[in-house]
Amino acid sequence: IYILGIESSCDDTSAAVLHNDEILSNVVASQKIHEQYGGVVPELASRAHQQNIVPVIDQAIKQANINKEQIDAIAFTRGPGLMGSLLVGTSFAKSLALALDVPLIDVNHMQAHILAHFIKEEGYDIPEFPFIAMTISGGHTQIVQVNSHFDMEVIGETIDDAVGEAFDKSAKILGLPYPGGPLIDKHAQQGNPKAFSFTKPRVDGLNFSFSGLKTAILYFIQKETKNDPDFIEKNLEDICASIQYTIINILIDKLKKASKETGIKRIAIGGGVSANSGIRAALKSGEHKFGWKTYIPKFEYTTDNAAMIAIVGYLKYLKKDFTDMSAIAQARIKI
Ligand code: ATP
Ligand code: FE
Repeated sequence: IYILGIESSCDDTSAAVLHNDEILSNVVASQKIHEQYGGVVPELASRAHQQNIVPVIDQAIKQANINKEQIDAIAFTRGPGLMGSLLVGTSFAKSLALALDVPLIDVNHMQAHILAHFIKEEGYDIPEFPFIAMTISGGHTQIVQVNSHFDMEVIGETIDDAVGEAFDKSAKILGLPYPGGPLIDKHAQQGNPKAFSFTKPRVDGLNFSFSGLKTAILYFIQKETKNDPDFIEKNLEDICASIQYTIINILIDKLKKASKETGIKRIAIGGGVSANSGIRAALKSGEHKFGWKTYIPKFEYTTDNAAMIAIVGYLKYLKKDFTDMSAIAQARIKI
């Protein structure tokens, strides 16, 4: 079975071709335009998708070395995401399915981040059910209990900012360019994580809150730079290490709690923030400390990409779970 996957929920235009559960191509066009604004501008995102979608799909089909008549079904992101961005992918997917006369499959972006673990990769173990999935990205922070491919329950999520936002906003306070997450990670590797301490938010259950941390960091920096205008410059590595250490502790604490409450020791992560070296190290040490088995996918499957949309397409194809031309983009949908 050949599945074409199309992703356009935020600021990456992506298309992928899967042969069963194996990737033949995964093309991602990231939009650079947003950097100068320090965040994604929705109107500019949808315009860029409009420009990118034809060449990106074309390239994905070419790289897969198939012709478009071999495609058995088209999977697209229905939501959640930015409406204008979703509309581009949704409309294109519908038109192409009509033109090629193949079934259309709608995909929930948040389910796709989790099911990305089922893409076949040399040397990568696919998680057994049930497992706990933590999706950490620029727009989302969720802990999900996954009982089977399509039986998932959100057991914890952020009540305000996403973890990627916490990284990016902290970086902004330090004067680092957007997106600052990877830069905090880079500087943190040279710093002392215990140099400064920030209070962790108290949130009940398995939910998260990151907005207070951002404010705490802002006040701390304001206070210190008043005494010493070069405070950031002199201590950048220690500040980054301390911020990262605090964020990782928040995430790991909730994972520990989730694992304890559910009795599940298989932990899978996804989303762009799972690239963070500190989180990867903390998860690995959880294997020794708590007897976890952890699953960290290839980087290209953790950020927004169409391969994860295509794998959901394949899994739905096996169940003949198709949608029709009445399918519409939805900015908000639950898992
Ligand atoms: P969503 O997937 O929720 O729609 P998004 O497209 O913004 O949102 P991703 O592309 O998955 O999310 O991830 C981007 C986020 O990950 C940014 O906030 C970025 O700063 C953060 N990030 C990427 N690499 C790292 C890293 N090494 N350490 C910390 N944060 C990182
Ligand atoms: Fe995403």
